[in-house]
Amino acid sequence: MPTILLIEDEEKLARFIELELQHEGYTVIKEFDGRQGLARAEEGNCDLILLDIMLPSLNGLEVLRRLRKTRETPVIMLTARDAVMDKVTGLDMGADDYMTKPFSIEELLARIRACLRKQSAVKTEETLLSLDDLCMDVKRHLVTRNGQEISLTGREFALLQHLLENQTLVLSREQLLESVWGYDYVGETNIVDVYIRYLRGKMDEGFAHKLLHTVRGVGYTLCRKDGQ
Ligand code: CA
Repeated sequence: MPTILLIEDEEKLARFIELELQHEGYTVIKEFDGRQGLARAEEGNCDLILLDIMLPSLNGLEVLRRLRKTRETPVIMLTARDAVMDKVTGLDMGADDYMTKPFSIEELLARIRACLRKQSAVKTEETLLSLDDLCMDVKRHLVTRNGQEISLTGREFALLQHLLENQTLVLSREQLLESVWGYDYVGETNIVDVYIRYLRGKMDEGFAHKLLHTVRGVGYTLCRKDGQ
């Protein structure tokens, strides 16, 4: 059964929804806070997200905006009554549906089923990327090397995906930063190098030596080079 991530700070409501979902057979992960909810969503272990808008630390719309940079997990927004702007903004930002509080649990369950059906139809058009023995199934968020599954975080996955989509090209740190972290990223400028190191750390030595190359003074390239 699918796993549903519920990001909702009203504990009573969250508990109620959790029990109903579990009763239907879903696995439920609960987060009460926007920032933690986003981190959990980026791990990519859930099939659908129920996302409240008014949340501590990071509001639901901001969670959605950031999440959509790396993930297409279906999102149903839980909005306050009459917050028309929130609904419009949420849908514009890539929410799949919304529920206005207070809602009936039957309607929520029906919308969840509809959303999951749509998602599984999309999943059949799988996106597969590969280089050498490295394979990525984008829709299923799966990376394998020589048939062995490699567990990556959302950001590591997005970085590797971008490298695979642009394999043989030399990508500068700035290009990678913009494509994977977004134009408005503020923080350490060496973050790209840090994540390249994470990727190399998670792969075998052949990956570091034969596939992912540092181009001094420029950036990185993913391509097959033997005998180096
Ligand atoms: Ca709330």
